[in-house]
Amino acid sequence: MTIDLISDTKTIPSKAMLEAMLNAKVGDDVFNGDPTVNQLQTKMATMFGMEDALFFPSGTMANQTAIKLHTQPGDKLFCDKYAHVYNYEGGGAAFNSGVTCKLIDGNRGMFTASQLEEAVVGRADIHVPFSRLVCIENTTNKGGGACWDFSELEKIGKVTQSNKLAYHLDGARLFNALVAKNESPKQYGQLFDTISVCLSKGLGAPVGSVLLGSKTHIQKAYRIRKLLGGAMRQIGYLAAAGMYALDNNIERLAEDHKKAKEIGKVLSTVSYVTKIEPIETNIIIFYVDEKIGAHNFIEKMATKNILLTPMGEGRIRIVTHLDYTDDMHQVLLKELQDF
Ligand SMILES: *Cc1c(COP(=O)(O)O)cnc(C)c1O
Repeated sequence: MTIDLISDTKTIPSKAMLEAMLNAKVGDDVFNGDPTVNQLQTKMATMFGMEDALFFPSGTMANQTAIKLHTQPGDKLFCDKYAHVYNYEGGGAAFNSGVTCKLIDGNRGMFTASQLEEAVVGRADIHVPFSRLVCIENTTNKGGGACWDFSELEKIGKVTQSNKLAYHLDGARLFNALVAKNESPKQYGQLFDTISVCLSKGLGAPVGSVLLGSKTHIQKAYRIRKLLGGAMRQIGYLAAAGMYALDNNIERLAEDHKKAKEIGKVLSTVSYVTKIEPIETNIIIFYVDEKIGAHNFIEKMATKNILLTPMGEGRIRIVTHLDYTDDMHQVLLKELQDF
């Protein structure tokens, strides 16, 4: 038995999800002829109370499209120093959109409205790249699955309005935040100009992300997706997996969060762990004693078929997910205890 806790992207579609995929009605989506993807897009837009939605092959492409549609080359976006759009999208903001990232020094991937206000100062100066966009990430990935305080997001929204900045949410794991904080998709739909959501993380679909926004924004996104090579044909098969994920796998994210907290509890009792980041959702980030070392610890666990990932600066990451069973959980807790 391999216990793969490297990412919540490691899930394999269940039999029921595969059946939903097999039974999907499909057509050529490049000619707007795929009924299932249209159904998924409408479902997501309705859920978030936003005008329109567009299916993407990846969260990276959905975010990159959002950046492109909100900006012109030479512009600047604001994000936390931990942001996925800056750290983990291959430099796409620069490559695809010619955009500079102004990094804000937040806490666990989250900054405050006043930090943003400070960062925006001087935007009229011709020396300074034009301020155009703010990108938020909820939950934060490198920040250990941390959830933003919604009232801070509202305050940041006010700063974006007074400075005429677009407001994008990288909601790859937004459903984890919604479940953990008992929030609703509509709250977020009202606040942001665009939102990207991954169906292939905690929700367990094999492929797919959705970008949400106004009709005008999604029309632009539609064109950008084409030029990035992301317009696809009979994707109803993938959309069916996404529909199944939305219908069946949202509430159960609470189980992943519960298991993550239980893992944290064990880590807090063993002597070799020097620090654990607060655990709010399905991501655990911890540090081990320098004498052991993060890489060595990860290697030792791998010999027991337990797979974890390093996150730089001595950080070790565990991510709980749909395919992490109760049995695996008991084995992991014991191995962490006995290490
Ligand atoms: C996973 C992830 C994405 C998108 O990643 P893809 O692998 O391209 O789907 C975007 N943002 C965050 C925070 C993520 O964790």
